[in-house]
Amino acid sequence: MITRSLANVQTDSRRRDDAERIPVSSTPQGRWQAQLASAIRDPYELCRRLELDPAWLPGARTGHELFEVRVPEAYLSRIRRGDPEDPLLRQVLPLLAESDTMQGFVQDPLDETGHTPRRGLIHKYHGRVLLIASPTCAINCRYCFRRHFPYHENSPSRAQWDDTLAYIRDDTSIGEIILSGGDPLATSDRQLAWLAERLEAIPHLKRLRIHTRLPVVIPDRIDTELLDWLSATRLQRVVVLHVNHASEIDDTVVAACQRLREIGVTLLNQSVLLRGVNDSVETLTELSERLFEAGVLPYYLHVLDPVAGAAHFDVPDAEARDLVKSLRTRLPGFLMPTLVREIPGEASKTPL
Ligand SMILES: *Cc1c(COP(=O)(O)O)cnc(C)c1O
Ligand code: SF4
Repeated sequence: MITRSLANVQTDSRRRDDAERIPVSSTPQGRWQAQLASAIRDPYELCRRLELDPAWLPGARTGHELFEVRVPEAYLSRIRRGDPEDPLLRQVLPLLAESDTMQGFVQDPLDETGHTPRRGLIHKYHGRVLLIASPTCAINCRYCFRRHFPYHENSPSRAQWDDTLAYIRDDTSIGEIILSGGDPLATSDRQLAWLAERLEAIPHLKRLRIHTRLPVVIPDRIDTELLDWLSATRLQRVVVLHVNHASEIDDTVVAACQRLREIGVTLLNQSVLLRGVNDSVETLTELSERLFEAGVLPYYLHVLDPVAGAAHFDVPDAEARDLVKSLRTRLPGFLMPTLVREIPGEASKTPL
């Protein structure tokens, strides 16, 4: 829960550097860096820890060859043991099906490499640019549309950042920076604070948006160091989480969201509609309800991007539309995510 010292961060910013700090970790798993380093990266270990039938292992090994397994302990703890149908497990367990080739499912479904005017910068939409602020994630989601992204060509050094920053400085139509990745919060606070400082010095920038799964998969990531630089910037801050199922939100996630809200961050969520994970009205209703309990508003519900290796997660458009239509009869308007698809070449995401 939120401690008294965090409240002080809000009321008296000078206190931030003083001795009184929130404890860095509220769980026995240690600081976030340690949790990130000790995430499960071995398909055998994943199957063993979750008490899965060994029959899943060969498929897990095959999928792992294509896109490596990565599951932090905090996330693992929310998965039911011995249940191959668990909706959280399905997001992280590699399957033999990932090696299937399927027409239309490609390496770069969004043509991002065609919109990269500077290393690590994607400028597709008016007024906002996306920065690949980190080459890695804390969790590897099997359906990820960037599972084949050439991160090694797009994780800039400081010198390259200068070039990226110059691009932003030169285009006064840009009002918002989106930190993405990978997961931008998988990077050190030193690096992020450095970047935030340079961004806020660009007069035409108004907003800093962070697309991250870290507050969900390692809630201890939302620690004092992060809250320090994030509360110091003049930019308005938006954090867009990525949660697909209500079971991903336990009390530690609620507390992490609370810490962000305490410093005035607007919290939104985007989900991906995934076969076998959240493709029912009940599941989506529960997700929106649970998000709001955590102080998060649903933003987008994305249909799957047709990335090679993820076709088994696909939900056809007609079914997606029907689901959302029924969802609308269950939820208040403000808890309805917008169903969208990303179509390369369009000037925005496309509502379905
Ligand atoms: C999704 C996306 C954005 C943000 O779009 P919003 O509709 O503002 O959320 C910006 N840039 C790129 C490249 C994107 O893929
Ligand atoms: S956290 Fe996001 S970027 Fe990283 S693997 Fe999952 S979906 Fe992809």
